[in-house]
Amino acid sequence: RAKERGRNTFRFYAAKMNAQNTEQLMLESALRHALERGELEMHYQPKMDLQTQRIVGVEALMRWHHPILGMIPPVQFIPIAEELGLIVSLGKWALERACADSRSWQKFGLPKVLMSVNLSPRQFESRTLIADIQAVLEASGLEPSLLELEITEGAVMANPEHAAKLLRAIRDMGVGLAIDDFGTGYSSLSYLKHFPLSTVKIDRSFINDLSQDADARALIDGIITLAHGLRMKVVAEGIETTAQLDYLRSHGCDEAQGYWLCKPVPADEVRNFMARHLRNQFAPSEAA
Ligand code: C2E
Ligand code: MG
Ligand code: MG
Ligand code: MG
Repeated sequence: RAKERGRNTFRFYAAKMNAQNTEQLMLESALRHALERGELEMHYQPKMDLQTQRIVGVEALMRWHHPILGMIPPVQFIPIAEELGLIVSLGKWALERACADSRSWQKFGLPKVLMSVNLSPRQFESRTLIADIQAVLEASGLEPSLLELEITEGAVMANPEHAAKLLRAIRDMGVGLAIDDFGTGYSSLSYLKHFPLSTVKIDRSFINDLSQDADARALIDGIITLAHGLRMKVVAEGIETTAQLDYLRSHGCDEAQGYWLCKPVPADEVRNFMARHLRNQFAPSEAA
């Protein structure tokens, strides 16, 4: 009996593995053509200054709409793009789109906001990274100080010396650097002072646990104090409730990003969102 069960279990896993492999292969070959087939799109999620309530930045997030498989989330396709080395060309395209969209919102008449683009660890290995960033800035005409690149702890810790050199070169161009998902990685705090970082993004998991978990609150408070001590700005990601927003504001966090404010949306929608937000700010609601 046990033997039989074992065999069935094995068959089950074998079938599942096969299905997984087939799906993986399908995604791999589809992803190779996604860019040229126009299946990729950049969405943008606004960030709000917690003191002034103004929209001060947006994060660019890649979306893949496959004609048959539908919407495939970045957690699924970004790792594949990394494995296949496709992330370098996809990443460059993302940077181009983001900078061009940012310029078009400026021409539309909106105040300047910071554009944050995610950089994957594999892009750090590209010899053309610095030249690519420079070329994109020149082509779009976006001021370097309006661009920020979000990197993860893993990207810098894999080869700290190489990373430090690249980060300094990026910083020297006038482009900002944010450490993403902070608190989930290697947790070596000392590296923060060795890299020219401008922003720390507190990971969503801490924000999520904030209301039930005193330890999460202690970590959030610690990250804010540490980052401010090192003259870095603090952004909290994944804000979903007013309680979370209030906590972060009263504990000195600088900016908030999350569904509470706005989900990631296409370029035109975020432009309209920013315009509406601005109008509401100027509306004499308390006058009367
Ligand atoms: P990330 O850079 O940490 O981006 C934040 C993620 O949190 C986004 O997921 C965003 O949609 C989600 N999010 C924001 N606010 C909330 C909230 O209030 N609640 C919840 N539950 N989620 C929220 P998304 O767009 O699925 O992206 C996932 C990850 O994929 C990103 O995490 C980033 O690591 C990667 N990624 C996305 N676009 C790109 C890209 O263009 N290049 C690279 N290299 N990676 C990207
Ligand atoms: Mg990010
Ligand atoms: Mg993040
Ligand atoms: Mg995250």
